Amino acid sequence: MSHPGLHHGESVCPYCGVGCRLWVEAEGERLIRVKGVEDAAANRGRLCHKGATLWHVIDTPDRLRFPLQRTLGGGFRRISWAKAIKLIAGRLRGLHATHGPDSVAFFGSGQLDTESAYLACKLFKGVLGTNNTDSNSRLCMASAAYGYSSSLGSDGPPTCYDDVAEAETIVILGSNMAEAHPVTFDLVRQRKRDAPLTRIVVVDPRRTPTAERADLHLPLRPGSDLAFLHALAKLLLPDADRGFIAAHTTGFEAFEAYLAQQDLNALIAETALPEALVRDTAQALRGRKVLTFYCMGANQSREGVAKNLAIVNLHLLLGQIGMPGAGPFSLTGQPNAMGGRESGLLAHQLPGYRLTANEVHRAEVAAHWGYPAGALSPRPGLTAVEMFRALETGKLKAIWIAATNPAASMPDLHQVQRALRQAELVVVQDCYHPTETTQHADLILPAAQWVEKDWTGTNSERMVSFSPRLIAPVGEALPDYEIIRRVAVALGAQGFDFPSREALWDEFRTLTSGRPCDMNGMSAARLCSARELQWPCPHEEHPGTKRRYLDRAFHTPDGRARFHVNKPVGPHERTDAEYPLILTTGRLAAHWHTRTRTGKVISLNFKAPGPSLQIHPHDAGPRGIEDGAEVVVSNRRGFVRVVAEVTETIPPGTVFTTFHWGDLHAPHSNANYLTHAALDPISKQPEYKYAAVEVAAVRTWVPAAPVVSDPTEMLNA
Ligand code: SF4
Repeated sequence: MSHPGLHHGESVCPYCGVGCRLWVEAEGERLIRVKGVEDAAANRGRLCHKGATLWHVIDTPDRLRFPLQRTLGGGFRRISWAKAIKLIAGRLRGLHATHGPDSVAFFGSGQLDTESAYLACKLFKGVLGTNNTDSNSRLCMASAAYGYSSSLGSDGPPTCYDDVAEAETIVILGSNMAEAHPVTFDLVRQRKRDAPLTRIVVVDPRRTPTAERADLHLPLRPGSDLAFLHALAKLLLPDADRGFIAAHTTGFEAFEAYLAQQDLNALIAETALPEALVRDTAQALRGRKVLTFYCMGANQSREGVAKNLAIVNLHLLLGQIGMPGAGPFSLTGQPNAMGGRESGLLAHQLPGYRLTANEVHRAEVAAHWGYPAGALSPRPGLTAVEMFRALETGKLKAIWIAATNPAASMPDLHQVQRALRQAELVVVQDCYHPTETTQHADLILPAAQWVEKDWTGTNSERMVSFSPRLIAPVGEALPDYEIIRRVAVALGAQGFDFPSREALWDEFRTLTSGRPCDMNGMSAARLCSARELQWPCPHEEHPGTKRRYLDRAFHTPDGRARFHVNKPVGPHERTDAEYPLILTTGRLAAHWHTRTRTGKVISLNFKAPGPSLQIHPHDAGPRGIEDGAEVVVSNRRGFVRVVAEVTETIPPGTVFTTFHWGDLHAPHSNANYLTHAALDPISKQPEYKYAAVEVAAVRTWVPAAPVVSDPTEMLNA
C-alpha cells in the first residue's frame, strides 16, 4: 500500500515509557513533521526534543533494508527473506534436536510492540519448549514488576498521569525525570504552578535538573535508599492510617516490630543526610496526598525489589493508595516495557501476567494456543545477564536478539562481547546496521520502524495505544511480528497462520481475560477507533480504568496488600584504596539508550556531543583534573576515556557518566565496561548504579591488568 501526496496520522513515540502520542505528517513515504497530540492523556500536545525530531531517523543511510548473512571473509552479503528464514529455522531446529530446547534463546526489548513480544513468547515457550525469552526490560523494570506483584498482588501501577494534578506532595526517588521523562516532569511543574503549596521532594545523590526544581532535595549517599525509606517510615509510624492498615493489609505487625528495632540516628547516618532534612521530608508527607515516582535509581540495584517494596510500604502505612492523587508510580524507561510484561516476554512470565512456574497458568496458556497440556516447560528460563553468561560457557548455543543493542547496553560489557563471539548462532533483528550488536551477528534481519507497521503498546500509566502504519517500510523491512511468524511457520509450528495483525492482537487480548491486566474489551477494531484505553478493560462496553484499587481490593489471594520487611544489604561492590570513587550512570535529555536513533539528529548531538564524567572539585583537584580535560575512569573490569566536567552538582566521592555512547561512535567510552552484573536475587536485575572506580588524568594513568569475570559466577548473593 503506497501513500501518495501529503497525509497524516497518529502514532506513539518509540522512545521512553511516557508514551507521548504523536501527530505525524508525511509526504508520500517521507515523514516531514512530528507534533504532540493535544488531547492525549500522556502529553497534552507536549513533546520533548527527542520526540519532536523523530522524523529525521526513518530513512537514514545506515537503515537496514535487506536481510544480510555473514560471509566467510567476515563481511555481510544480501540474501532473500526466504533464504534467511530457512537458515534460521534450520539452525534452531538443529540446535534444538542436538542440544535440547534450552540451548536457544530470544532476547528482546521494551521497544518491541506487544504483538511481537507475544509471538516471540508463543514461539519459544509454546513451540520450542524453552523459557529462555527475556528482554532488556529485565535491565530496567524487573524490580518494579516484582515489587508491585509481591505487595499488591499484580504488576502494573495503580496510578495514572492525571494523579499529578491532584497530588499534594510529589516524591521523585531515583529518577532524573526532567531529563529522562521530561513530558511527565512538565506535568509536575504545571502542578506546582497551579498549586504552589504542592511539595516536590527529590531523592537523588546528584543535584540533577530535576533536583534543581525541588522544594526538598535529599542528596543521600548512593546505595542508602533503603535506610532512608526505613527512617522515613519510622518517623511516620505515629501517622499510620491504622483503619486502612487493619482493613486492607497484612504484615504490618512484623513491619512495625522491625522499625521499632531500628535506631533512627543510625539509619539517618547511613544516608549521610542532615537529620532535619529527613524530618522535613516526613513532615511533607503527613496528612497529604502523596504520589511517588521512581525509576532506575530504585530498580537498578541488587536491592531493587526491596527498595520498591519499601516505597509501597510507605504508601500502605499512610493509606496513600487507591485514591486520586496518591500511590506508587514506577516510570518505565521504554515505550513498551509494560506490553512486554503483559505479553509474557520476560523469562518467568506467560501472557496475562501468568507465571511459567505456575502449573495452572501453563495449562491455561497451552489450552488457549491449542497445544498439549504439558507443552510449556516449568524449567526456569535464563534472564538477561544469565543468557550472556550461558553463551560464554557454551550452555546456551544460539541467541536471537531483537530491537536492542546488548553489545553496548549490558553491564560488564567485556563479558557480553566475549559471549557473543563464543555463540554458535547470533541472529540480530534491528532497523539499523551497523550497531555494536549487529557486528557480532551471523544473520541480520531488517525490521520496520514504528511508522512503517501497525502495532500496539502500553505506556507507564497502563494506557494501551494502537498505532497504524503511516508510510511503507524502507527496502524489504518487515514488522518484527511478521519475521517471528515466518520463522515459526518454517519450523512447522501450528497456530501462526494469522490472517491479519488484528487476528494476532485478538488472540493475545482474549488470553488476558480475567487477569489483572485484562484487555479483553480492547478488540483490534475498538482500539483502532478509540486509539487508546487503559487496562483493566474486561469487555467491549467498559471505558477502561484510570485508577486501580479504588475499592481497596488488591490482587493477592486474600485481597489485602502486603507489607514487607527487608534489611538493607548494601551495594555488591565497595570502594577501597585502589578504587575509592562510586560510579553511577544515567541518561541525558538529548539522547536515548545507545543512540541508534538520537545519534542521527544533528540538533540532539549539538546539545550533547559526547560522554563526560561529572566529578566534584574535591576529587578532581588532588588528581590534577581540570574541567574539560580528558580522563580515564578505570576499575577491575576495564577502563573508559571521557571528558571531565568538574561540578559541585555531584557529591564528593561519587562520579557520574552516561551509558549512551557505544564503541561505534565513541570508542573506549562506554560506561558499561565499568558496570558490573551483580543481580537482585529476586528480580535478576543488575546493579548498574553502583561500581567502584578510580579516575586519573590521561597523562598520569597507568593501566592495571583487568580481572576477567567468571561466566559461571552469578553475582546475585
Ligand atoms: Fe515523550 Fe518520552 Fe518521547 Fe520525549 S522521549 S516525546 S517524553 S515519549
